Amino acid sequence: MKWVLFTSGCVVALVALGFLAVDERDVVWEGRKPLCGYCRAELAHHAVVCRECNRSLDWRPTTEECRWCLERKDLDHLLRIYRELEKEEPLPAPLAPYEAYFEAIDVGACTYCGGIGMVMENGEQAACPVCRGDKRCVACAGTRSVVIGDDGAHRRASEREDERVRAKVRGVVTDLPLNDGVLVDKDVEALRGYVEAEDLTDLHGRRILDLARERMKAAFRTLHEEHTKRAKAPGGS
Ligand SMILES: [Zn+2]
Ligand SMILES: [Zn+2]
Ligand SMILES: [Zn+2]
Repeated sequence: MKWVLFTSGCVVALVALGFLAVDERDVVWEGRKPLCGYCRAELAHHAVVCRECNRSLDWRPTTEECRWCLERKDLDHLLRIYRELEKEEPLPAPLAPYEAYFEAIDVGACTYCGGIGMVMENGEQAACPVCRGDKRCVACAGTRSVVIGDDGAHRRASEREDERVRAKVRGVVTDLPLNDGVLVDKDVEALRGYVEAEDLTDLHGRRILDLARERMKAAFRTLHEEHTKRAKAPGGS
């Protein structure tokens, strides 16, 4: 009986060691920085061998919480204030342009259009210049979780740069317009949900996630200003 226990103990220990060894071979993430699981040296993207200690590694992408769209807690806070102001008929004038936005916005939605997919531009409806009509946050694809270190997305981002350079050269040679719009649509489609989406720019070279953040801030700011005004008004609560 004793030797059975001893043997099974050894097996358990070996299995545990095996797990540890397999674990050790992985890339370790320190935020967005990939480190060697053995010597903690910083790794190049998709490194399968560490340049410092020469040992082989398993490259595994990681995820982080999205910093670009609204989480439940913030959204609930925003909507609570909005509902209070909504009781006023009609809605305070500065909030009118954001009415549809506040009605539609949800967790993981594109913060430029609020998740409608469309915006009003010069009195006409147009596809959202950030999510291109998809409605979800471009950084996390609506999941609130952004993938870091994905090889496909990394390659796509470099290809995108090459494509842009080629399109520019073609434009100069043939005098044809750059047709950047098609490129932006394709880029957003390919990189949505990956950290590489942070570098996506619009036709004017502006980062589309910055545009979304600015619009969300403007909506929040207006809401808070109106709320404060109401609280200060005579008879306000
Ligand atoms: Zn190493
Ligand atoms: Zn949008
Ligand atoms: Zn997001």
